[in-house]
Amino acid sequence: MKIIMLGAPGAGKGTQAKQIAGKYSIPHISTGDIFRANIKNGTELGKKAKEYMDKGLLVPDELTCDLVVDRIGQDDCKNGFVLDGFPRTIPQAEALDKALDGLGEKMDYAIDVDVPDESIVKRMSGRRACLDCGATYHIVSIPPKQEGICDACGSKLVLRDDDKPETVQKRLDVYHEQTQPLIDYYKNQGILKSVDGTKPMEEVFSNIVEILG
Ligand code: AMP
Repeated sequence: MKIIMLGAPGAGKGTQAKQIAGKYSIPHISTGDIFRANIKNGTELGKKAKEYMDKGLLVPDELTCDLVVDRIGQDDCKNGFVLDGFPRTIPQAEALDKALDGLGEKMDYAIDVDVPDESIVKRMSGRRACLDCGATYHIVSIPPKQEGICDACGSKLVLRDDDKPETVQKRLDVYHEQTQPLIDYYKNQGILKSVDGTKPMEEVFSNIVEILG
């Protein structure tokens, strides 16, 4: 099963993607996580990506497409994968379709986790992330067991630079301009499904499972 998660930054698509990956035993591929791992390891890609990420802008397609195309060609993706945060532009979607076409495959579902902008801004200011292992929390809806400390690895939790209110508004503008057109792109392909992302996390997940079967 090959799934794309769509939705504004902070809509909860990452949380849902992880659960889908667990339930269907397929890899969770998050371009944001890949960039953050590169930043942490001080790679050239990380240095370039950080300049854009800190401003709430998208990392250019030429730095993004090849790394996803390589990743989905790996052995563990043979039975499918769930893409989280990719594609984010029409050229990225076209690059993905082209790569899959070359493998004689196509995407099965694009799931839009729909949340209005006002709720997003509220949510993102409560988000906390572990920069060591990538786990994410929310001070109200998914609190860590011990405040400010990652359950998974014990590191300190932080408000990511790109989750700060001034950056969030910029990311929402970028989302509406560059990513929202993908909704029509996948509607035209007949694979778009929408879920109400304002519902509690468990309910959103069961709605997704109903769709995926
Ligand atoms: P995320 O964790 O998915 O919210 O991504 C965090 C940041 O990484 C985004 O705001 C972008 O700057 C960058 N990023 C992640 N995925 C992509 C992508 N597919 N295309 C361009 N930039 C991306």
